[in-house]
Amino acid sequence: MDPSITPETVLSSVIRITEQRSQQNLEDSLVATLADLAGLRFCGICRLTHTTSGVFIDYMATSVPDEARRAGPLDDDPLLRECLETGDVKTATLPDGGVRRVQTILDDRGAACAFLITESVADQTGQISLIDGFAAIYRNYLAILRDAARDTLTGLKNRKTFDENFSRIVASSRHLEVPFDGNRRSSHLAGEHHWLGIIDIDHFKRVNDTFGHVFGDEVLLLLAALMRRAFRNEDLVFRFGGEEFVVMLAPTTFENASAVFERFRETVAAFNFPQVGKVTVSIGFVRILSEDLPSVVIGNSDKALYYAKEHGRDQIYSYEQLLESGQLSNEERADSDMELF
Ligand code: GH3
Ligand code: MG
Ligand code: MG
Repeated sequence: MDPSITPETVLSSVIRITEQRSQQNLEDSLVATLADLAGLRFCGICRLTHTTSGVFIDYMATSVPDEARRAGPLDDDPLLRECLETGDVKTATLPDGGVRRVQTILDDRGAACAFLITESVADQTGQISLIDGFAAIYRNYLAILRDAARDTLTGLKNRKTFDENFSRIVASSRHLEVPFDGNRRSSHLAGEHHWLGIIDIDHFKRVNDTFGHVFGDEVLLLLAALMRRAFRNEDLVFRFGGEEFVVMLAPTTFENASAVFERFRETVAAFNFPQVGKVTVSIGFVRILSEDLPSVVIGNSDKALYYAKEHGRDQIYSYEQLLESGQLSNEERADSDMELF
């Protein structure tokens, strides 16, 4: 190992990496630190995206900024494909004499969740214990970040994760918004947008009162499982607390959003919950624009939910449609007891 690497330099690098509080910052810090400490010409972390036209490599962080261009089809990177297939560390000598090494990062369930790519001008043997050590720190720290992002009962993302990611998710849809001059609401209903739905179990208190908290918890778990099945991977599902769930739909039209939420309502109504029997949900949903504040989006969706609760439950309502039909006025304050703020 390079004699300039002392326990102090390693320790200060570990401290710098573990100061990070988001996955992106953690990964940026890790690749920069490792490239520096191990004298690598390249260090990167990538993940795989499965699409209908094949598997793609996405670089989440690279020590050399423009090396993100390495992203591409998995078939273009035989070493990474081999590593994925065998689960082993793979090393190859490059045409210019450099050495490339690919290793899998496993999550706490033993599934490959990322790949660490390191490249040096020559042999990496002297750096392997350093690289492996940092890979292990990364894996452990990733597990902590994941736990902090999730609700302990259902394993769904929690409210904190919603708050931290809302702006980024919404900003990513800015390109979908075309300028318009007419009626803001109806013009926007026509295109594709993110949609936010609040799903609240109807009369859940009765479930607890009749069957006890253990069965209540089981209903929450089964409902979370139904959500995972009903919504796509691109849609984000959160447990906001209690018996309230929030779903952020990936950009789609009003008709699709409406159909997705309605189908979910029907799925729940048709499901036989063991012992408890039938449980229904009410859903209020709203379109999200890139400049919207999360509190406004949640508040408006909550008004639509409240309307559903007031008008029979086991129903879905769109905030925009309630406004357009005059069933809800713009200034109306839903006198909600949902305690969302
Ligand atoms: P509504 O149809 O108006 O939504 O009625 P509700 O009874 O579902 O709503 P309310 O807000 O009155 O009661 C929510 C209940 O959810 C009260 C609380 O005991 C229960 N609850 C909240 N969190 C949990 C949990 O983690 N486990 C269980 N078993 N129950 C929970
Ligand atoms: Mg409820
Ligand atoms: Mg509630």
